[in-house]
Order: sequence, then C-alpha cells, then structure tokens
Amino acid sequence: MHEMSLAESVREIVEETARTHGASRVASVRLEIGALAMVEIDAMRFAFDVVKRGSLADDALLEIVETEGSAWCMQCSKPVAITRRGDACPSCDGHQLQVTGGEQLRVLDIRID
Ligand SMILES: [Zn+2]
Repeated sequence: MHEMSLAESVREIVEETARTHGASRVASVRLEIGALAMVEIDAMRFAFDVVKRGSLADDALLEIVETEGSAWCMQCSKPVAITRRGDACPSCDGHQLQVTGGEQLRVLDIRID
C-alpha cells in the first residue's frame, strides 16, 4: 500500500510547517488528490490516521479535496474530462489523450493552534 509512504511525506510537510510557525498542535490538514493520482482515498485516510500518531498532527482532522482528471484529446483538439487513466475520449471515443491534470497530490493548507 503506497498510501502509507505518501501519508508519511504529508506528515513530514505538515510537521515542518507547524514547527516553522512555532505551533505545538495541528488542527486540520487539507489535501488535494487528483482523480488520476492513483491514490485510494480510504487507504489515504487510514494511513494518515496511523502515521499522525505521536506527531504534531496527532489529532488533526484530514480533509480531502478530490479534483477531476483532465486530458487533451489530439483528435478533437480540445480538453476533455476523464475519470481514470486509460479512459477513452468522451467525445470521439479515441485514445489519443494526453493527461493534463488530476495527477497531483498536495497539501493545500494546514490549520494550526
Ligand atoms: Zn476526442
């Protein structure tokens, strides 16, 4: 489950940010996860619950913002929305798509006390 190592990186970012601001506690963390990021949301929540223990984010709430996947269809010459990698173009059913968005996993913001 690679969500565990992703969650660990998130915790590191969160702890570092909290320390920089002299905070002793993190109240909440907002994560953005793209539809094509190959991240299981439930697994991510579970992993974060595990890795946050004993850290500054021990009782932080995890909020996940999911964003759509997007791609450029070379046949239609226009951007289209896709829900997973390998999807066909919703307009022409073609597969000449170049993913342009939805692969990101990033910390949007954190709230500290
Ligand atoms: Zn198309």
